[in-house]
Amino acid sequence: MRGYLVAGNWKMNGSNAANAELVDGIIAGMPQSDSVELLVCPPFPYLAAMAAKLSGTGIALGAQNVSQHEAGAYTGETAPSMLGDVGCKYVIVGHSERRAIMGESSETVAAKFQAAQDAGLIPLLCVGESQQQRETNQTEAVIDEQLNAVVDGSGIEAFRRAVIAYEPVWAIGTGLTATPQQAQDVHRHIREVLAARHQDVAATVKILYGGSVKGDNAAGLFGKPDIDGGLIGGASLKSADFLAIAEAAWALN
Ligand code: PEP
Repeated sequence: MRGYLVAGNWKMNGSNAANAELVDGIIAGMPQSDSVELLVCPPFPYLAAMAAKLSGTGIALGAQNVSQHEAGAYTGETAPSMLGDVGCKYVIVGHSERRAIMGESSETVAAKFQAAQDAGLIPLLCVGESQQQRETNQTEAVIDEQLNAVVDGSGIEAFRRAVIAYEPVWAIGTGLTATPQQAQDVHRHIREVLAARHQDVAATVKILYGGSVKGDNAAGLFGKPDIDGGLIGGASLKSADFLAIAEAAWALN
């Protein structure tokens, strides 16, 4: 059983006070379930404080980005080992905002994925198509390119310690959500691409859906056979909203 993962990507939001209130709310209301893992990904300056706050709660900590380099003259960058050092278990790589705004190529994302794993972190690899790519029937080709860059670089076995998030770009922060069937179709496709290399890895890797997940659409999405939870942006910034999504996963266990 793969179990569910419900992950909050706080993006560039928060403050010491707001983060404490948010996490206190999640801890106070979190469902008592071993098979739903909760994860929060705050901005870099708050990681250490959040690690202390989350200690012993069962809520995992992740970062939103990482350097592909281990150390050295990379001003402003953060090494994978540093993330482990401050208590991160996960790190998001290849988020569409980084691909689009910061110009990260699939090769760069693949290097970050490998560097994260080398440091003992679990990479949460984001893939997804734009609206224009979906409308011109390129969804699977785009996903294949983003996914295969990593599989070719790190090998299929690397996905035994990784999570994938399918995040259609047109659904991120727009209020538009893929229908459960649209999402399921892409999740199934991702599993088939991986299964062509290794059946067992494909069957066991968690694939999250991200893109305007809310309390009222989470159950429909998480109820699909190849959807193992969500990567949540906007709705991860209020404890009640995040918990409503986690509750959907909990109820489906
Ligand atoms: C995201 O940025 O990963 C995301 C899914 O955002 P939102 O939930 O706000 O669409």
